Amino acid sequence: MSMNRRQFVQVAGSAALLPLVGASLSGCSPARSGPARVAVIGGGFGGATVATYLKKYDPKLEVTLIEPKTSYMTCPGSNWYLAGLRDAKSITHNYEGLKKRGINVVHDTVSSVDSDAKTIKLAGGKSLSYDKVVVSPGIDFKWGAVEGITEANAEKCPHAWQAGAQTELLKKQIEGMKQGGTFVMVSPPNPFRCPPGPYERVGMVAEYFKKNNPKAKILILDAKDAFSKQGLFLAAWQEVYGNMIEWVAGKDGGKVTKVDAATMTVYSGYGNIKADVINAIPAQKAASIAFTMGLTNESGFCPVNMLTFESTVKKDVYVIGDASIAGAMPKSGHSASSQGKICAAAIVNDLAGLPMQPAQHVNTCYSLISKDYAISVAGVYSLQDGKIAEIKGSGGVSPKDANADFRKMEADYTLGWYASITKDVWGTGA
Ligand SMILES: Cc1cc2nc3c(=O)[nH]c(=O)nc-3n(C[C@H](O)[C@H](O)[C@H](O)COP(=O)(O)OP(=O)(O)OC[C@H]3O[C@@H](n4cnc5c(N)ncnc54)[C@H](O)[C@@H]3O)c2cc1C
Repeated sequence: MSMNRRQFVQVAGSAALLPLVGASLSGCSPARSGPARVAVIGGGFGGATVATYLKKYDPKLEVTLIEPKTSYMTCPGSNWYLAGLRDAKSITHNYEGLKKRGINVVHDTVSSVDSDAKTIKLAGGKSLSYDKVVVSPGIDFKWGAVEGITEANAEKCPHAWQAGAQTELLKKQIEGMKQGGTFVMVSPPNPFRCPPGPYERVGMVAEYFKKNNPKAKILILDAKDAFSKQGLFLAAWQEVYGNMIEWVAGKDGGKVTKVDAATMTVYSGYGNIKADVINAIPAQKAASIAFTMGLTNESGFCPVNMLTFESTVKKDVYVIGDASIAGAMPKSGHSASSQGKICAAAIVNDLAGLPMQPAQHVNTCYSLISKDYAISVAGVYSLQDGKIAEIKGSGGVSPKDANADFRKMEADYTLGWYASITKDVWGTGA
């Protein structure tokens, strides 16, 4: 990885320096005399980070985070859980840490937002007012984009692309698969959350099969012709799992046309494959509240001012994380968290009547191949001609010819990354 050390230091320091406010914001709200009120929709990587950093930058702000779940299982680490390398508890976080940081946590679902009146309606019947609202609701699925990949069929052919019940279901199916059976993954088209995620997953499924079902076969039918860290993944699978994993590119017939859950058959140009487990990951779009709020464009995601993350459609509404269109940044927890820090700074500055300074973002995605073997991709991003773009030469992927010690070191970094980001985001972590 050729990340420039000076750039890394700039990035690490940028979030802390950006607010540029010494004074408290009490009284800065234009609508009333109390402290400004910021509402955050969604308590995942983006939402929990922006809430935390709003409070850090200005402790007098009234920050309310709305999230239906009382405990949040992270997608990062969920593949390790499938392999049996982690337990569910160690990748599940509650909101007590955020409450300790002075954030009002409301466990409910936002059903609508009136961005003119600046009010939010909750499914539970309550409503609340805000001066600024940050939307970080993650993704939903384009059900039916492939025949048979439907919400109802997800109970038989799980996606496990939102962690929780779906992850548990997929784990049970992997553990119950007959000896020598076939696991088929339907890998989604771009753009989708976590570009290396499907490929880490098959490695983790292979880790489980190697020990418990050594004659099993894993087939990835892909809508795409290329994927993140492709050369490293393909070489690593061969090295660690021999011929257990086969990847079929879209151009070679990998595009799936139909999934028949009743007969467990996957139809594609590669053939009609009879499967024992089908992990069907649908095409993706921003979560439904982003559509209800009118924040999306024809891409199904939300355009934002890439300096501040304010919606280009609605004033005083900000969108971060997977739901946003954030230039070259991948849809990852690390990206969502980086955007949360910068967005918090932009809001605090705006409330103080100060301009936002251009910021830099960082993203690293580690992928475990097996317990002692990981690879990574990293990038540093800045605003270039109004768009977030990768700084030339700032990032890169793990070296191709690294030795076992290096791969093990990256596996240790993977766990270190998880522990530190979850501690930062939720105040909890393993
Ligand atoms: C298998 C897998 C592995 C991954 N591994 C990694 C990794 O190693 N590293 C990494 O950086 N990223 C990884 N990711 C990606 C990462 O999980 C996402 O990019 C990240 O969760 C995005 O954060 P977010 O805040 O946008 O959305 P989320 O974290 O999904 O949070 C959205 C929250 O909003 C809530 N919500 C939705 N609608 C409403 C509403 N109407 N009202 C109130 N709340 C609402 C939801 O309940 C949810 O908790 C992985 C993803 C997958 C699927």
